[in-house]
Amino acid sequence: MVLPSPTLTISCAGDAKLAATIREFLVAEGIATAGREGDDEISVAVEPEGGREDILAALSKYASARLEGYSLIEFGDDVVIVGMKAEPEELGLHVCGQCGFQTASADAMAEHSKLHGGYLFMPPFL
Ligand SMILES: [Zn+2]
Repeated sequence: MVLPSPTLTISCAGDAKLAATIREFLVAEGIATAGREGDDEISVAVEPEGGREDILAALSKYASARLEGYSLIEFGDDVVIVGMKAEPEELGLHVCGQCGFQTASADAMAEHSKLHGGYLFMPPFL
């Protein structure tokens, strides 16, 4: 019995242009075969022995050298997301220091803060 070789999906979260750039690199490295244009995901066949680690190492090296501000986020064993690292504050969001509530509006945050009143944590009924 021959098991299908496992695949690693590299997702660029909707960014097909980024995916094309990464695919080009992976093809040049002999890791991936050319995929469909316009896809924001790249499927790579993984060698059973250490293949996943090799791919992640190559990808991570490429990302740190060429993709400033991007990071690799692993989801389980077979999905890696290449995405922008972003703090809520960098996106212009106000973040409640007590409960983590986020809003783009300073006024809404001021209103929100009042809800906490003297409570350390937001009561469940609010
Ligand atoms: Zn809060």
